[in-house]
Amino acid sequence: MIVILIVLGIGAFFLYSYLDDILSFFNIHPSEEGIQRIINAQKCRHNLKLIEAAKEAWARDHGKVYGEKVTWKDLYPYLGRTTPLTCPSGGTYILNSYGINAQCTIGINGTPDDPNDDHILRIK
Ligand SMILES: [Zn+2]
Repeated sequence: MIVILIVLGIGAFFLYSYLDDILSFFNIHPSEEGIQRIINAQKCRHNLKLIEAAKEAWARDHGKVYGEKVTWKDLYPYLGRTTPLTCPSGGTYILNSYGINAQCTIGINGTPDDPNDDHILRIK
């Protein structure tokens, strides 16, 4: 019994060690492109959150109400920068007025079942 477990353990270890080679042999590659797409989407959603936080602070400091227009110049002091934030996938941010979430032009990224790669701020 113990011999079988040891053999299985060693087998599992080698299988794991050579997983890349085995997957390559069968031409199965964990999609680096897919992983990068998700990482970029996460960064983009983070940027959208930063924009919304900046809009909140700007509105509070200047007594703004919902529906008021906001510009990048208004937000720079709150973002600690002097240029617009950029989406890592090449999308462009639309600030929208105060009270409406900022958007990335990429939006939903073509996989309706998987929100991980969407460039959308879903919470308010
Ligand atoms: Zn984006």
